[in-house]
Amino acid sequence: MSVINIDSAKQNIEKNGFLDIEVDATLDLFHEIERLKKEKNAIILAHYYQEPDIQDVADYIGDSLGLAQAAEKTEADIIVFAGVHFMAETAKILNPKKKVLLPDLKAGCSLADSAPADAFREFRKQHPDHVVISYINCTAEIKAQSDIIVTSSNAALVVNSVPKDQPIIFAPDKNLGAYLIKKTGRDMLLWNGACMVHEIFSLEKITKLKIRHPKAKVLAHPECEEPILRIADYIGSTTGILKYSREDSANEYIVATETGILHQMQKDSPHKTFIPAPPTNNCACNDCPHMKLNTLEKLYLCMEYETPEILMEEELRKAAKKPIDRMLEISRAGGL
Ligand code: SF4
Repeated sequence: MSVINIDSAKQNIEKNGFLDIEVDATLDLFHEIERLKKEKNAIILAHYYQEPDIQDVADYIGDSLGLAQAAEKTEADIIVFAGVHFMAETAKILNPKKKVLLPDLKAGCSLADSAPADAFREFRKQHPDHVVISYINCTAEIKAQSDIIVTSSNAALVVNSVPKDQPIIFAPDKNLGAYLIKKTGRDMLLWNGACMVHEIFSLEKITKLKIRHPKAKVLAHPECEEPILRIADYIGSTTGILKYSREDSANEYIVATETGILHQMQKDSPHKTFIPAPPTNNCACNDCPHMKLNTLEKLYLCMEYETPEILMEEELRKAAKKPIDRMLEISRAGGL
């Protein structure tokens, strides 16, 4: 239930994750958000999995690599991060002097949660000679225990940059790890984590869809399980999928990633048809429940009151920054 007192809403922010106050229904939130951006010199960075309204008010929409690069170089005073917690944390790690806001602190990530810091520390201890490459979808504590971070855009490039005789741990996504083993030919030790959205696509339902839409191409994110990747015509990051659908000559696509991406695909190619790949459960959608915790109202409230804010111990921030810097260096050198 919403409360109307701002002080009480601020006190309850840890419990609720956001400012639980009523927003005047007559407010034009698009206009208000634009006003706040100018007044506060704020920039909105949004992930492709955010709801369409949020993507439409964002200054930059991208995947994890693009968002990290945008967060690193922005001159704005406030970074409003419309994404999940580890992404906002990454922005704070890269640009600590900026105030980083997240519309809902509870916007987490099942993949990041699948690697608790203590258990990961024990795992590393058992393999002290391994270099640790971690997917950016992990907490700052896991980043701080890693040697290099990757995103789905640069993962193969980073894995290939490690000397051939050097053993590697890859965490936390076992599906992306298995895909990279196949793609790079490197044998890596995988942490057993997965994304709750990408591991539930149904091979059987996609195969049936392909019968009804024989010309449709399957586009998949490498977080998907191997059977889905095996039937995909294209595998790539959200940015890669978007680019492929824009430049490719087909007219129909079955898209195996979070549905938020369809908004930009449809905007870029209005004459094409994009069909969300069906999951194994009975729900017709593949929305990430964490990403979709952010709403336009919460975005407006966090800008108006400048909370919830991402804060971090400096020691942890510095340790987590090192492997991200390494990733950004390798990406730049590789032309990404
Ligand atoms: S789609 Fe998966 S990996 Fe991305 S934020 Fe949601 S749970 Fe995490």
